[in-house]
Amino acid sequence: MSDCLFCRIMRGEVPSKKIYEDEHTFAIEDINPQGPTHVLVIPKKHIAGLKEATAEDTELIGRCHLTAARIAKERSIEDGYRTVLNVGPRAGQSVFHLHVHLIGGRTLHWPPG
Ligand code: AMP
Ligand code: ZN
Repeated sequence: MSDCLFCRIMRGEVPSKKIYEDEHTFAIEDINPQGPTHVLVIPKKHIAGLKEATAEDTELIGRCHLTAARIAKERSIEDGYRTVLNVGPRAGQSVFHLHVHLIGGRTLHWPPG
Protein backbone atom coordinates (compact mmCIF):
# COMPACT_ATOMS: atom_id res chain seq x y z
CA MET A 1 0.00 0.00 0.00
CA SER A 2 1.38 3.37 -1.01
CA ASP A 3 0.83 5.26 2.26
CA CYS A 4 1.53 2.43 4.72
CA LEU A 5 4.58 3.05 6.90
CA PHE A 6 5.85 -0.53 6.82
CA CYS A 7 5.26 -0.84 3.05
CA ARG A 8 7.26 2.38 2.65
CA ILE A 9 10.04 1.02 4.89
CA MET A 10 10.03 -2.19 2.83
CA ARG A 11 10.50 -0.15 -0.36
CA GLY A 12 13.32 1.86 1.24
CA GLU A 13 11.33 5.13 1.13
CA VAL A 14 11.60 5.52 4.91
CA PRO A 15 14.91 4.71 6.61
CA SER A 16 15.09 1.80 9.05
CA LYS A 17 17.62 -0.49 10.65
CA LYS A 18 16.89 -3.73 8.80
CA ILE A 19 18.40 -6.74 10.54
CA TYR A 20 16.88 -9.61 8.57
CA GLU A 21 15.18 -10.28 5.25
CA ASP A 22 13.95 -13.32 3.34
CA GLU A 23 11.46 -13.92 0.55
CA HIS A 24 8.40 -13.48 2.79
CA THR A 25 9.41 -11.38 5.79
CA PHE A 26 11.83 -8.73 7.00
CA ALA A 27 12.77 -7.45 10.45
CA ILE A 28 13.74 -4.00 11.70
CA GLU A 29 14.77 -2.48 15.00
CA ASP A 30 11.80 -0.74 16.67
CA ILE A 31 12.32 3.03 16.75
CA ASN A 32 11.08 3.17 20.37
CA PRO A 33 12.49 0.02 21.97
CA GLN A 34 10.73 -1.42 25.02
CA GLY A 35 13.67 -3.64 25.94
CA PRO A 36 17.30 -4.39 25.01
CA THR A 37 15.85 -6.35 22.08
CA HIS A 38 12.79 -4.91 20.38
CA VAL A 39 12.52 -6.05 16.81
CA LEU A 40 9.51 -5.91 14.49
CA VAL A 41 9.05 -8.86 12.17
CA ILE A 42 6.95 -7.80 9.20
CA PRO A 43 5.44 -9.82 6.37
CA LYS A 44 6.15 -8.34 2.94
CA LYS A 45 2.48 -8.82 2.07
CA HIS A 46 0.34 -5.94 3.31
CA ILE A 47 -2.18 -7.31 5.83
CA ALA A 48 -3.76 -4.62 8.03
CA GLY A 49 -3.64 -6.74 11.18
CA LEU A 50 -4.49 -10.10 12.70
CA LYS A 51 -8.22 -9.54 12.50
CA GLU A 52 -7.95 -8.82 8.79
CA ALA A 53 -5.83 -11.92 8.12
CA THR A 54 -7.39 -14.89 6.35
CA ALA A 55 -6.68 -18.61 6.19
CA GLU A 56 -4.42 -17.88 3.22
CA ASP A 57 -2.11 -15.97 5.62
CA THR A 58 -1.69 -18.87 8.06
CA GLU A 59 1.77 -19.86 6.91
CA LEU A 60 2.96 -16.26 6.66
CA ILE A 61 1.98 -15.49 10.25
CA GLY A 62 3.76 -18.65 11.38
CA ARG A 63 6.83 -17.58 9.44
CA CYS A 64 6.88 -14.23 11.27
CA HIS A 65 7.00 -15.99 14.64
CA LEU A 66 9.70 -18.40 13.48
CA THR A 67 11.75 -15.48 12.17
CA ALA A 68 11.41 -13.90 15.62
CA ALA A 69 12.53 -17.16 17.27
CA ARG A 70 15.56 -17.28 15.00
CA ILE A 71 16.55 -13.71 15.89
CA ALA A 72 16.02 -14.47 19.61
CA LYS A 73 18.37 -17.43 19.32
CA GLU A 74 21.00 -15.36 17.51
CA ARG A 75 20.80 -12.75 20.28
CA SER A 76 20.99 -15.33 23.09
CA ILE A 77 17.76 -14.16 24.72
CA GLU A 78 16.13 -17.57 24.75
CA ASP A 79 15.80 -17.51 28.54
CA GLY A 80 12.74 -15.31 28.01
CA TYR A 81 11.22 -13.27 25.25
CA ARG A 82 7.79 -12.41 23.88
CA THR A 83 6.34 -12.43 20.41
CA VAL A 84 3.37 -10.08 20.48
CA LEU A 85 0.76 -8.80 18.07
CA ASN A 86 -1.18 -5.75 19.18
CA VAL A 87 -4.64 -6.02 17.61
CA GLY A 88 -6.75 -2.89 17.37
CA PRO A 89 -6.21 0.62 18.78
CA ARG A 90 -7.29 -0.31 22.30
CA ALA A 91 -4.47 -2.85 22.44
CA GLY A 92 -2.01 -0.24 21.22
CA GLN A 93 -1.88 -1.07 17.53
CA SER A 94 -0.66 2.07 15.81
CA VAL A 95 0.63 0.74 12.49
CA PHE A 96 -1.98 -1.08 10.45
CA HIS A 97 0.33 -3.49 8.65
CA LEU A 98 0.56 -6.74 10.60
CA HIS A 99 3.80 -7.13 12.56
CA VAL A 100 5.13 -9.31 15.34
CA HIS A 101 7.01 -7.58 18.15
CA LEU A 102 9.99 -9.52 19.48
CA ILE A 103 10.79 -8.16 22.92
CA GLY A 104 13.44 -9.57 25.23
CA GLY A 105 16.75 -9.12 26.96
CA ARG A 106 15.08 -8.14 30.23
CA THR A 107 12.65 -9.64 32.74
CA LEU A 108 9.14 -9.49 31.32
CA HIS A 109 6.23 -9.25 33.72
CA TRP A 110 2.82 -10.87 33.45
CA PRO A 111 0.16 -9.77 32.81
CA PRO A 112 1.42 -7.14 30.38
CA GLY A 113 0.01 -3.65 30.87
P1 AMP B 1 2.02 -1.27 17.18
O1 AMP B 1 1.83 -0.13 18.13
O2 AMP B 1 1.82 -2.64 17.72
O3 AMP B 1 1.24 -1.03 15.89
O4 AMP B 1 3.57 -1.24 16.80
C1 AMP B 1 4.12 -0.28 15.96
C2 AMP B 1 5.55 -0.15 16.34
O5 AMP B 1 6.23 0.51 15.29
C3 AMP B 1 5.79 0.67 17.61
O6 AMP B 1 6.48 -0.14 18.58
C4 AMP B 1 6.65 1.83 17.13
O7 AMP B 1 7.64 2.20 18.05
C5 AMP B 1 7.24 1.29 15.84
N1 AMP B 1 7.60 2.26 14.84
C6 AMP B 1 6.88 3.34 14.45
N2 AMP B 1 7.52 3.99 13.46
C7 AMP B 1 8.66 3.29 13.23
C8 AMP B 1 9.77 3.46 12.33
N3 AMP B 1 9.81 4.47 11.46
N4 AMP B 1 10.78 2.56 12.38
C9 AMP B 1 10.73 1.53 13.26
N5 AMP B 1 9.73 1.32 14.12
C10 AMP B 1 8.72 2.19 14.11
ZN1 ZN C 1 1.70 -2.11 4.45
